[in-house]
Amino acid sequence: MQTVRTIEEVRSIVRSARLDGKGIGFVPTMGYLHRGHTSLVEHSKKLSGFQVMSIFVNRIQFNDAGDFSRYPRDLERDLAVARDCGVDLVFAPGDDEMYRDRRTFVDMELLTDHLCGAHRPGHFRGVFTVVSKLFNIVLPDVAVFGQKDIQQAVSLEKMVMDLDFPLKIVIAPTVREEDGLAMSSRNKHLDPDERRRSLCIIRSLRMAEGMIASGERSARKILSEVKKELSTGRPDKIDYASLVRYSDLQPADEISERSVLAVAAFFGPTRLIDNMIVEEREGKFSCVY
Ligand code: AMP
Repeated sequence: MQTVRTIEEVRSIVRSARLDGKGIGFVPTMGYLHRGHTSLVEHSKKLSGFQVMSIFVNRIQFNDAGDFSRYPRDLERDLAVARDCGVDLVFAPGDDEMYRDRRTFVDMELLTDHLCGAHRPGHFRGVFTVVSKLFNIVLPDVAVFGQKDIQQAVSLEKMVMDLDFPLKIVIAPTVREEDGLAMSSRNKHLDPDERRRSLCIIRSLRMAEGMIASGERSARKILSEVKKELSTGRPDKIDYASLVRYSDLQPADEISERSVLAVAAFFGPTRLIDNMIVEEREGKFSCVY
């Protein structure tokens, strides 16, 4: 595995891999790697011959300076994890390499109006900008993102379509701890009480799944029960519990053929998100979370 810090080195190594006839797979991360991240590499390996991972805590996507400075970092450990799961090239740039005199940003209408977009001003502009830059640096054939950050994944699919990036976005399922908590670098910040209370998130998704399986379709009724279940974990704040259409992430009154039920809540200063995709196939609804 090679580790580089400059754009020029990435371009030269990726060019050689391409000359060797390899397709390029790409997994962008902010590091502090866990099995959620490595599962993305596993997906990418099935689709391409040369695996690139970026590790970069992207300052411009943090709407809260405290969250940025607290964000966990451990590059040495990350490099060992990346090597073990078969990454060929890690790009770990410094701030100066990615952002010199930045005046250009990438932004999107509609899909960022709700969910995290409504609660984290500027967040998605920072994400779209850094991901566009990384796509232009790595020039991958396929880029893999996690369902855990569903608004990010769906809007990046839209960005790739709207701006004609010549690559395919793949969305991989959420990897969870044994008790159901979605893996996240931020879980490290949860104290034992917050960690216990955070399980109301997975309970609320399971409860919604049960209601949908029993035939309930009303967003109002499902979300009311989801919020009740969430409150049993005494979150310090619920940012949202919403049902949106998958296609444009706009609020839906009813479960339709493809919807997303998404939640975000604080436990102490730590904000956790989770979601499930509800899909109709041959008249039956299945929930993927
Ligand atoms: P991050 O390092 O948190 O910016 O995440 C980098 C990528 O890993 C994003 O595509 C995330 O959606 C994905 N990811 C984070 N946590 C998980 C998880 N528990 N399961 C699957 N993918 C994840």
